[in-house]
Amino acid sequence: MTLNILFGFSAVVCLIGLIIRLSIWFSQGMSPPAAPAAPVGTRMTEALKAVVGSFFSAKIFLIIKSVFVDLLFQKRIFDKSVLRWIAHTLIFSGFILLLLMHALHSVVTEPLFKDYQSTLNPYLFLRNLFGLMVILGVVIAIFRRITLKPQRLKTYASDWTALIFLLVIILSGMLLEGSKMASQSTFQRMVEDVSLSDEEEVKALEAFWVQENGLAPTNFQTAPPAEIVAKGKEINGDYCMDCHASNKAAFASFTLAKISPIFFAVFGDALTVKLLWYLHILACLAFLAWLPFSKMFHILAAPVSLLIKGVTGDQIREPANILTRQMIGLSACTHCGSCSLECSSNMFFETFQNDFILPSEKVQYLKKIAAGKETDPAVLKQMQQGLYVCTSCDRCTTVCPSGINLKELFVSSRYTLLKEGMPETTMLSHFSFPLALAQNFVDDHLQALKKVTDIFIKSFQHLADTSSPITLGTSKGFGNTTFRGCFSCQRCTNICPVVRSYDDPVEALGMLPHQIMFSLGIGNTELAMGSQMIWSCSTCYLCQEHCPNQVELTDIFYSLKNSALKKVETGVHS
Ligand code: SF4
Ligand code: SF4
Ligand code: SF4
Ligand code: SF4
Repeated sequence: MTLNILFGFSAVVCLIGLIIRLSIWFSQGMSPPAAPAAPVGTRMTEALKAVVGSFFSAKIFLIIKSVFVDLLFQKRIFDKSVLRWIAHTLIFSGFILLLLMHALHSVVTEPLFKDYQSTLNPYLFLRNLFGLMVILGVVIAIFRRITLKPQRLKTYASDWTALIFLLVIILSGMLLEGSKMASQSTFQRMVEDVSLSDEEEVKALEAFWVQENGLAPTNFQTAPPAEIVAKGKEINGDYCMDCHASNKAAFASFTLAKISPIFFAVFGDALTVKLLWYLHILACLAFLAWLPFSKMFHILAAPVSLLIKGVTGDQIREPANILTRQMIGLSACTHCGSCSLECSSNMFFETFQNDFILPSEKVQYLKKIAAGKETDPAVLKQMQQGLYVCTSCDRCTTVCPSGINLKELFVSSRYTLLKEGMPETTMLSHFSFPLALAQNFVDDHLQALKKVTDIFIKSFQHLADTSSPITLGTSKGFGNTTFRGCFSCQRCTNICPVVRSYDDPVEALGMLPHQIMFSLGIGNTELAMGSQMIWSCSTCYLCQEHCPNQVELTDIFYSLKNSALKKVETGVHS
């Protein structure tokens, strides 16, 4: 009765959570200013049309391929890291198989296998095997986060909670099974169930169970005599074998049964079994209720996201579906950190120490922003910076194992925040950002670009004043003084794709890469800072890679941009 009430409560909370999540999928999103968000009804209809259209067209083959390659095999994780793939596969397959075979046995296993009994093989063995798979996977995941510490992988309490929940569920289940094996009370109940009343036979059966099935030797001071054990074996064959395989098949629980007497000494065996049963059941029910509100919701969202990716690639045309995909993507993130590892804006992250520069961290907060819950101007400003330094290189999207279209998400978020306040001056680079912009963003971008360009022109007006002489000074570094090695060979300028894209690069860019290095060499940082070249640089690193003197041009351009931004933002001009 109590169990039914608790289960009903957890199921209702879970259902409410799922409804909230689904409503978020169809009601929130980062829409560009030019395209206001479609109403919920339209979004649901468009999504349904897309799903039906995919099932009844040649796209069905893409769906089938995606189910096998992306969902079941998890190829995207495998391509990135075999260790992560092993951990993920162990947790995912172990947990799902346990859920279907054990937790949902009455609706899945029993109808499928008529002779199913949880105490018979192969079920006894498989339950332990699946449980051990989950434990192994969790241990690898913890080891990876604590010991291997992948670069820029942040770990939040929510990441630990998910892993701890899984461990508690599986370990409590195994301990429960082990304590039942060792418990005298459970043994006596079984004896009653099989209607065995002869005391000698009971004693013999007990001896056999102590010897072979993990029962605690409460009534035996020494090892039971061999002949009694042999007799017990016969009785076991007559009374128990049909519905109870050897406990040794449950290898993990059988091992844990050996430590059960420690708990029995404190709580008694019956109470220990009861407490572990409550712990296991409550952990399972709490997990069920918690699932839609946690990062574990990715169990449901990531497959949907991967299927969308498998069928559409990144080519969704219907604006309503783009928003829905954004929200599915945000809930599919597992916070694995793969995107941050590959991010091209790492240089900025090192400089600004702003977590929102990392794509994996942006995703966590964009959920709040999409919901309109994040209103703290300081946080929004940080996020804005994180979004504007993104070079739209798309590397994060390519590696994301959950198939999230991160580039689209970040570009859309940029313009959503743009509506809120002043555009970030870092967007001045008209090469890096528009490269990957979808067509419907171009007007917004040009408008904002003009605004920021005006700010810059005003701020560096004095450079256009030809009456003020350019003075030679002492060359200064910004923590990076490699420009001092430059001997003006011009290789950097010759290789630069931005320079090559102009008929008259000097007119368009102000100064060319080798000239910027030269101006730094003569100590005229202002001149270098006022050059359009540094803002047009697409940060491809070609010049830096090809400089014969290891001048770190691209890194220096970043530093110049940062210094220029600081000057504009603080209003300090030398
Ligand atoms: S966005 Fe993708 S790659 Fe990045 S942390 Fe989330 S799941 Fe991992
Ligand atoms: S698109 Fe932006 S966030 Fe993604 S990897 Fe490139 S720079 Fe980083
Ligand atoms: S390639 Fe290197 S040495 Fe040559 S001009 Fe450029 S920065 Fe100077
Ligand atoms: S990194 Fe160097 S080569 Fe690449 S665009 Fe910038 S200046 Fe040109």
